[in-house]
Amino acid sequence: MTVLRVGQGFDAHCFTEGRPLILGGVTIPYPRGLAGHSDADVLVHAAMDALLGAGHLGDKGTRFPPTDNAYKDISSLDLLKRVSHLLFINCWKVVNIDAIIIAQEPRLSAYTEEMEERIARCLDGRPEVSVKATTTEGMGFTGRGEGIAALAVALISREKEDKDAGSFEPA
Ligand SMILES: [Zn+2]
Repeated sequence: MTVLRVGQGFDAHCFTEGRPLILGGVTIPYPRGLAGHSDADVLVHAAMDALLGAGHLGDKGTRFPPTDNAYKDISSLDLLKRVSHLLFINCWKVVNIDAIIIAQEPRLSAYTEEMEERIARCLDGRPEVSVKATTTEGMGFTGRGEGIAALAVALISREKEDKDAGSFEPA
């Protein structure tokens, strides 16, 4: 019997001067980057929380606290690999991730395929990863160009032993 679990993730970071803009592990040419303790990769952070949520394994804030200097400026793809390992030792396989970046600018469509590739490479079995980008037509904090937000959903699966599966059947 295959057990499926879905999880969702959301994250937002504000723009700041003097940092590179890194989304899905890809450095985007843009005059501003995102503020944060790690590399502030808002897309990968949303994907991590979706995966952790699907596995009921907590959230990225408690797994990788921003107060811990071990995570200062760390590549979020490295953190994603740790999430992947956590799922692996709990016998979970990632089926797919679907994510969307919400940003008024820069335009990101030329980079989403590379983001998909880099995220998938960090996960066991290279699951299907879909990354899209949209604007809010000028509304809200992303519309005003104050920052970037991202949403993600993840589906994971686990094979359950037949003897355990029985206990979930109605009597
Ligand atoms: Zn974040």
